[in-house]
Amino acid sequence: MSAQLAGTSTQDRQTEAELRPSDKASAAVPLLLHGCCGPCSLEPVRLLREQGYEPTILWSNPNIQPAAEHDRRLVTLLGWAYDAGLEVVQWTDDRERWECEVAPHGTNRADRCRSCYALRLEAACDAARELGFHHVSTTLAVSPHQLWDICTEELVRAAHERGLEPVVQDWRDRYACAQARARDCGMYCQNYCGCRFSAMEAQIERQLRRDARKRAKKLKNQESETRQPETIQLETRQPGVNQPETRQPETRQPGVNQPETRQPETRQTGVNQPETRQPVSAQALSAQEVLS
Ligand code: SF4
Repeated sequence: MSAQLAGTSTQDRQTEAELRPSDKASAAVPLLLHGCCGPCSLEPVRLLREQGYEPTILWSNPNIQPAAEHDRRLVTLLGWAYDAGLEVVQWTDDRERWECEVAPHGTNRADRCRSCYALRLEAACDAARELGFHHVSTTLAVSPHQLWDICTEELVRAAHERGLEPVVQDWRDRYACAQARARDCGMYCQNYCGCRFSAMEAQIERQLRRDARKRAKKLKNQESETRQPETIQLETRQPGVNQPETRQPETRQPGVNQPETRQPETRQTGVNQPETRQPVSAQALSAQEVLS
């Protein structure tokens, strides 16, 4: 099934028009890209095209709950794909199978997500074989919220079991850029992975972050309240501001306020006491005179 147009902004269309494959795209390597949503498809599609692949997006996400959320993500993806010149294939969304194979893992996230990746990526690889693709990949590899190692293991396993070539990429460093581009495009960006468990986990994480921010703010306020009196006291004790008297001892430095103390020093022998020799010589002369 080809991509269908959904509501997108003019800016979105102009941006994505730049991403349309050139005439050289016919020489590009066809690749079936499992797409989990519109925002997570932006950067993988751009980068794969740069690497010489021409992606077709495969939609198979029976994990997304509730149904209205599933449809909203799909419509967002279709609208963007149309402008980007991408074909979107809608494959099976086997919700019953997801409930039987994935949901029983409950809050055991590693096992639950592995089972969820396996179900979706096996569907993508089945589609690749049926549609004649040899290369497969997934946009799940762009989100740091996914379990990248487990997801990659399941992609490789599912592809090899079907004789396909898995294109393994780590796009997680592009996630922030993808989110920014999605916001610029006015795309809908969800705040949980997809299943009801992930919605609950995301809600708990947000609440924990809010609580941590509140605690940190309260602690900061308490610290600033207890510090204020100390800083005032310290400021008033600065020398030269409120205690000018403390400088008085400094003005008694030698040679500045006590010039008198130097007077004794000027009475050095041979400089200030020539008179003391005169009486001696006078006495000597008078003695000589007496002797003579
Ligand atoms: S958290 Fe995401 S990957 Fe894991 S089971 Fe739920 S929908 Fe699937």
